[in-house]
Amino acid sequence: MFGMGKNKGDKKQAEPAKAAAPVAPGVASAMPAPLKRGPMEGMMQDWPLTVDKIITHAYLNHGHQEIVTRTVEGPIVRSTYADLYRRSRQVSNALIADGVQKGDRIATLAWNTTRHIETWYGTMCIGAVLHTLNPRLFPEQIAWIINHAEDTHVFYDITFHPIVEAIKDKVPSVKHWIVLTDAAHKPQSAMTNLRTFEEYIAGKSTDVVWGDFDENTACGLCYTSGTTGDPKGVLYSHRSNVLHTLIGMQYDAIGIGARDTVLPVVPMFHANAWGIAFSAPAVGAKLVLPGAKMDGESIYELLDGEKVSFTAAVPTVWLMLLQYLEATGKKLPILTKVVIGGSAVPERILRAFEENYEVEVIHAWGMTEMSPLGSLGSMTSPVVAKDRETVVRYKLKQGRVPFGVEMKVVDDNGRELPRDGKSAGHLVVRGPAVAKAYFKNAGGQILDKDGFFDTGDVANLCELGYMQITDRAKDVIKSGGEWISSIDIENFAVGHPSVANAAAIGLPHPKWDERPLLIVQLKPGATATKEEILNFLNGKIAKWWMPDDVAFVDNIPLGATGKINKLALRETFKAYTLPTIQAAE
Ligand code: AMP
Repeated sequence: MFGMGKNKGDKKQAEPAKAAAPVAPGVASAMPAPLKRGPMEGMMQDWPLTVDKIITHAYLNHGHQEIVTRTVEGPIVRSTYADLYRRSRQVSNALIADGVQKGDRIATLAWNTTRHIETWYGTMCIGAVLHTLNPRLFPEQIAWIINHAEDTHVFYDITFHPIVEAIKDKVPSVKHWIVLTDAAHKPQSAMTNLRTFEEYIAGKSTDVVWGDFDENTACGLCYTSGTTGDPKGVLYSHRSNVLHTLIGMQYDAIGIGARDTVLPVVPMFHANAWGIAFSAPAVGAKLVLPGAKMDGESIYELLDGEKVSFTAAVPTVWLMLLQYLEATGKKLPILTKVVIGGSAVPERILRAFEENYEVEVIHAWGMTEMSPLGSLGSMTSPVVAKDRETVVRYKLKQGRVPFGVEMKVVDDNGRELPRDGKSAGHLVVRGPAVAKAYFKNAGGQILDKDGFFDTGDVANLCELGYMQITDRAKDVIKSGGEWISSIDIENFAVGHPSVANAAAIGLPHPKWDERPLLIVQLKPGATATKEEILNFLNGKIAKWWMPDDVAFVDNIPLGATGKINKLALRETFKAYTLPTIQAAE
């Protein structure tokens, strides 16, 4: 082996010896020199981990497998992985014809549909960056994000045409608008740089070079509002997406196979539909895409009509489905597994699926910065051996890490806390699909000295490896799987002439997981009613950001640095019931 030419080990051996560790006088010369051989390089193939390999694999091995879409225009349409492969290549050529280069950002404002996935692979596979925009944000926020990302193209669904008309003059980097439809459904518009998707790819060749770049090349971009301050971009690489796909394909993670029919209700703009836009083609599963409709009846129609075996979404979607099933008496004979995450799974959703419909619930936790899978609540032998009520307690925890994610809970000084199921602290994570910085370095350094990322969640870990979120340290509220910025609400509220200080906190809600409560401290001698405060906020924030209630206090507690002490407020209001709760039940 040593005679087999140069390797990094040979090079290392030739380097001058570094200063030796101190030894007792007279002893050093008698000691043999320590071996200084470097690591030997393995002799396996260099196969860059790029996502074109995923779709090429699906084309070659599962070309006939179906993709079913409820189109935004209405009808349910069918295609295959072979069609997806060919049409994605046409997208690549259309982008190249526009002059798109590696690293250019191509945005989508779109539901889960076949055309969206065609845009997805067509962009990524030539080394451009697919940037998913969240259409649930306020138009001003979407424009801000496009400007920050400097997107050159926006592909969007017809439902979002009003947003496009509202922002088109505020986003100078965008040179091309492509509406994801055909000529018959093209919206009326005076925009001269607007084309339909079918027009865009018509006549384009399928002959294009995919891949052929370093696996660390940027691949996807997704902004998160889940932190304080402006939204921040998470820039996935080809390598991180491929490794995340492999992480998700583990049996105890997403664990799907070629016999599955998979319905990702979770949108592609929520961190790659939790990776399913990659893992479904990677395993050759039939893919069912829900388009714009996520109400109980529409989702049931797909689950039943397409014989879906596996699905994934936030709790709010499942609440709507369960209400529909209860009202109609319909059953779920084919569905075997549902992954629920993005917010904590309410016990009644877990019990309804498992006890009334025999569907296994996997509670998942993750975040945009983690691509997003962090932990999943699949069972282990010691847990399944326990009685049903104990099993339910474990299932309500946020789950165990799959291989490829490292996780620990630390105190304020960064010291690891015991895995005893009680000690709660900052949840920190590390792994090949975890962000090391935000796009354009927004927010600066985000890792600790050991390379761990602080999730902003407060949690405990138990001896069997299950993690449980107990609180959230970050200053945002999560409603129906979407972030509400408490700071934005507070900033507007303190603009009211009678308000001295204001704090928005999230309180538990059975339908939306959390809803905002606005806590107001009035100026001395001033008066204001709940209605006056809410009227004042009207039009300044998105409707679904409106606080569900306003509570007046004499004094809003401040922490040592003068910031509002949200932990203290959450403690004070922990038994508070929002007036909207009864309406939701
Ligand atoms: P996002 O980046 O939008 O996916 O949000 C990630 C954050 O959502 C996490 O840091 C948690 O605060 C919250 N989250 C995600 N999944 C869960 C869950 N299963 N239970 C509780 N909180 C969750």
